[in-house]
Amino acid sequence: MALLERAEWYDIARATNWTPTYVTDSELFPDVMSGAQGVSAEKWEVYDEPYKTSYPEYVRVQREKDAGAYSVKAALERSRMFENADPGWLSILKSHYGAIALGEYAAMSAEARMARFGRAPGMRNMATFGMLDENRHAQLQLYFPHEHCPKDRQFDWAHKAYHSNEWGAIAARHAFDDLFLARSATDIAVMLTFAFETGFTNMQFLGLAADAAETGDFTFSSLISSIQTDESRHAQIGGPALQVLITNGRKAEAQKLVDMAIARAWRIFSLLTGPAMDYYTPLEHRKQSFKEFMQEWIVGQFERSLIDLGLDLPWYWDKMIAEFEYQHHAYHLGVWFWRPTVWWNPAAGMTPDCRDWLEEKYPGWNDTFGKCWDVIIDNLLAGKPELTLPETLPIVCNMNQLPICAIPGKGWNVQDYPLDYNGRSYHFNSEIDRWIFQQDPVRYRDHMTVVDRFLAGQIQPANLAGALLYMDLAPGEIGSDAHQYAWVEAYRNTPRNKRIA
Ligand code: MN
Ligand code: MN
Repeated sequence: MALLERAEWYDIARATNWTPTYVTDSELFPDVMSGAQGVSAEKWEVYDEPYKTSYPEYVRVQREKDAGAYSVKAALERSRMFENADPGWLSILKSHYGAIALGEYAAMSAEARMARFGRAPGMRNMATFGMLDENRHAQLQLYFPHEHCPKDRQFDWAHKAYHSNEWGAIAARHAFDDLFLARSATDIAVMLTFAFETGFTNMQFLGLAADAAETGDFTFSSLISSIQTDESRHAQIGGPALQVLITNGRKAEAQKLVDMAIARAWRIFSLLTGPAMDYYTPLEHRKQSFKEFMQEWIVGQFERSLIDLGLDLPWYWDKMIAEFEYQHHAYHLGVWFWRPTVWWNPAAGMTPDCRDWLEEKYPGWNDTFGKCWDVIIDNLLAGKPELTLPETLPIVCNMNQLPICAIPGKGWNVQDYPLDYNGRSYHFNSEIDRWIFQQDPVRYRDHMTVVDRFLAGQIQPANLAGALLYMDLAPGEIGSDAHQYAWVEAYRNTPRNKRIA
């Protein structure tokens, strides 16, 4: 059978629209689902996605990608990576799979909403491929950890995390529901594909792929690279949608969506990627600090994407950049201290050499975060590990669902940013988190943080054991120090003043 050249049919296929006759246009594309912001269908038709592909091309390329990732996995099944890897690396894998695998599944729903309700035909076309991409990512990241489950139950959290009330899972769900499940097609294009994927997933995926190769985990490296090639394609759904909004006088609305999404993405990545890069990755395998990575990808590259589109930098840009210095250190300290409440074993990353590296990358670290770790180290050396474990719960931010925390010690800047709204007191980690709430209080007001639930008596018994039960963390899944405190020995004969030098 003779086939037409692609150029002869492609534009008709990717730009097909139709005029409904059985229903009205607004019944076919309800505004709550399409989020067209009053821009007419004709004006959306100029939408021009920079990356174009056809279904046969897509299927051929994706088949090759899948074959590549699965065959690397099969070839390396006997490589003893699991047995030989640094425990810090296994913790990165566990935290990544639990936080990301079902997030990919949620992203598939989001792409499906754009595929059905996107106002531009080109957007619907791209999102159809994006939907298939995200389904592939969920499948890969559920299948790859599965082989480790018999050896280590924490890998089961790749599937389990999002079905639990573990605090990190609540935080991830709160952010992802907000950015891409409870949003219209246009909002998703802006918040998920532009802000989240163009801005941030590069970090988790390119950064982690490089670290994985450096660490010798080629299975994970090829898996992650395979996923990232899809992300860099479907992330381009958002840019042309923003152009349509801006051209048609909706810049302020678009800017607000971008600003909210970047702020929310930054929190998730500072929790997940920050500790992985600066603490869990073995020192000899670290290429860049998390701060350097943020400077390169967010300030160096993403900032230009914003300006090129005609958007402004978010109003909080300098405040966020200031947080690159400390927020993830604070989250790491908290996660390690509350280690029984996570599904992986946090790596302290606290040998004397690690501390020298931290001080070099983050001048002043020893006088701030180092002071807290000194107390932890002294208690461990004194044989009092119970003093390094939590007995209470922290104050949790009503926006990002993470503990309110910042710089301890000599640089102390920890502050609550409160808000009274309709008779309820809310607490926020920063002015930025509070600002997000104020943009749409009705959307956020009824959510209860895990600590709100505790105080409301929903968690019984009202102690750490009850909290672990509530979070569904079973024995064998509860986190502990990744290296079983072996790193503490380096301090046994080191004078205190030397490590504080
Ligand atoms: Mn994905
Ligand atoms: Mn994606």
